Amino acid sequence: MAGHAPTDGSSPRPMELHRTKPRLTAYQRRMHAVTALHHRRHLVQLAVATLIVVMAIRHHSESGTGAPSVDALCPFGAVETLWTWVTTGAFISKIHPSNLVMGLALLLSVLVAGNAFCGWVCPFGAVQDALTWVRRRLHLPTVTVPARLDRWLRFGRYAVLTLVLVMSATTLRLWFADVDPYVNLFGLGWLFEPDLATMWPGLLILALVLAFSLVVERAWCRYLCPLGGVLSVLGHLSILRVRRSTTACTGCNLCVQPCPVGIDVAAPVAAVSADCIGCLECVANCPTGGALEVSAAPPWAAWRKRLDLEVVGSSAGAGARHHGSTSSEGGDAR
Ligand code: SF4
Ligand code: SF4
Repeated sequence: MAGHAPTDGSSPRPMELHRTKPRLTAYQRRMHAVTALHHRRHLVQLAVATLIVVMAIRHHSESGTGAPSVDALCPFGAVETLWTWVTTGAFISKIHPSNLVMGLALLLSVLVAGNAFCGWVCPFGAVQDALTWVRRRLHLPTVTVPARLDRWLRFGRYAVLTLVLVMSATTLRLWFADVDPYVNLFGLGWLFEPDLATMWPGLLILALVLAFSLVVERAWCRYLCPLGGVLSVLGHLSILRVRRSTTACTGCNLCVQPCPVGIDVAAPVAAVSADCIGCLECVANCPTGGALEVSAAPPWAAWRKRLDLEVVGSSAGAGARHHGSTSSEGGDAR
């Protein structure tokens, strides 16, 4: 009998020694995939945040060596500098060449992989993910912003971006650095050179943003980050996008809830919104093979499909959205 030692002295066969591993259910396989993804993404975020903190400590403790500040490690400095140069012909003072290098690297990465920078690299995005973790552990209430209000609030990123660009071009300095939550937190000025009299506006904004992000997931990214605004526009040109197969999708909506930036992943569209930060939570949570995946296509494919959907929508009337969850394709969607 299987599992019993043979009585004729021969060695037991491997199959008799080892019990076959129980097959995982589809749900268990999906949960494994979700956990593995969390680990990988958080590991990358932790590595980048650690690097930034180490650079900030070096900047404060080795001031004579010219160790750069965290301003020099932000690609948004490139946006401010280029805009100022284009509009005034002058350069922002104290701009670091690394800003331009990082800005160029970010531009190339957006053209290939959309806003994956926000989901995998940005340390301030990582801080907000940590706040979400804290909120869940403490069972704090989550504020769900109504869809209509959410759509309007997302324009806040462009309002902040406009303000920053105008002020940078007017003052010819990195004007945003004084109030930028990323700089105020990771710059460690509050630790090494605390000076409440000059730092209070930046620290107050930082505290408000952190409190907001504690109750609304990735609130800063969704509604206020000027770099997020730039990336959201450029994201329309990205080749790799999360795309949904309308033929494979069963309309279960399991991909919607985990999205940290509140995208309606199950919307009747082919490519998810350009606000997508590439965290892949939706892909890992999708139970249907081939329904949701990252695939490459020229950006105009999504635009053409969006146009098709609008034509279909205008001829089919208000019912298009309802039926579309399982039967139509389009471009981007919120
Ligand atoms: S939106 Fe801004 S803060 Fe959020 S992850 Fe992207 S760059 Fe960072
Ligand atoms: S759409 Fe998917 S990949 Fe994009 S941010 Fe939302 S959950 Fe992450």
